[in-house]
Amino acid sequence: MAPHAAHTFVQDCLEAGFALAGVTSIDPPERAPIFEQWLEDGMHGAMQWMERHRDLRHQPADLLEDARSIICVATRYAPADVKGGAAVASYARGDDYHKVMKKQLHALCDQWRGAFPDAQFRACVDTAPLLERELAERAGLGRVGKNTMLIDPGAGSWLLLGEVLTTLDIAPTPADHDDPCASCTRCIDACPTEALSPWRLDARRCISAMTIEQRSEIDVQWHDAIGEWLFGCDICQDVCPHNQLTERSAALPSAPWTRDRLGLVPVLDVLEWTPQRREAKIAGTAVTRATLDMMRRNACIVAGGMAGHADLDSIRSVLEAIANAADEPEMVRDAAREAIRRLDASLRSES
Ligand code: SF4
Ligand code: SF4
Repeated sequence: MAPHAAHTFVQDCLEAGFALAGVTSIDPPERAPIFEQWLEDGMHGAMQWMERHRDLRHQPADLLEDARSIICVATRYAPADVKGGAAVASYARGDDYHKVMKKQLHALCDQWRGAFPDAQFRACVDTAPLLERELAERAGLGRVGKNTMLIDPGAGSWLLLGEVLTTLDIAPTPADHDDPCASCTRCIDACPTEALSPWRLDARRCISAMTIEQRSEIDVQWHDAIGEWLFGCDICQDVCPHNQLTERSAALPSAPWTRDRLGLVPVLDVLEWTPQRREAKIAGTAVTRATLDMMRRNACIVAGGMAGHADLDSIRSVLEAIANAADEPEMVRDAAREAIRRLDASLRSES
């Protein structure tokens, strides 16, 4: 039987609110060996969960019996435009994409089950071990850049990815994007921790991985470089020329639910968060990935770079209270002590 045309499925995805959609085969990803080597080299750092289900990343077909095709989608999100406070990665400032995109994809699966009662569909949004950037590239949604993000040339890399595996045989959409990077190295040059080499991320050095995934102390060698980043880091996307406003990006608006709902995130507030105050501020966003202790640890690190801040006296006294409180978790206390040391050092160097 001839494969189903991709057009209808792509159109359904676009009508459901996704900015980009395409189809690829269930064939194993070519870059699985590169990913394996990356794991072998320990580049995943604190993301130990990546070691699980390694075989499935080689064989997406094993995620759904008799799967033939993968429908790939991308949502565009809004880059942050908040002045002041601690920095939170743009993708996490709106509604939690896992929940919203999963709901959208489940609705599409239901629609397709109605049209193809014999077919199976499985929606994934970070919920299955897929090499999703390669799959999206294969489906024609863009090309992976040297910053390891999927880039739609002209529309940029502010993209959240999702997939639907299906037993339907759907004709793949063309993957005809040119290399978005050529001789550019802006992301590599701008990364404050030298975590990037072309198409390879060392997550042990990456601020995003450290602040979001690492559940223990963050080595003091990174504290200065972390700067104002409380949760995640957007630097290697901010500097990318593909993320400048273009006719195409203007025509592909970000999804309304991705828009900032956090507003200003004052460091002093986070240092003093209780479980209830944390919940009130970040409930419903992807920032909930980091625990209260992780966020307060991160806030201590950010505070250590705030020697010139108007609230310095209050920040310092909260740091001292944390550093001296026997009931504070060790990683928060250690981060507070290091922040006080850095503040003192920079005040001394200024006098
Ligand atoms: S997210 Fe930040 S720290 Fe990580 S690679 Fe990009 S610029 Fe470097
Ligand atoms: S900043 Fe330059 S090198 Fe990095 S991903 Fe963008 S285009 Fe590629």
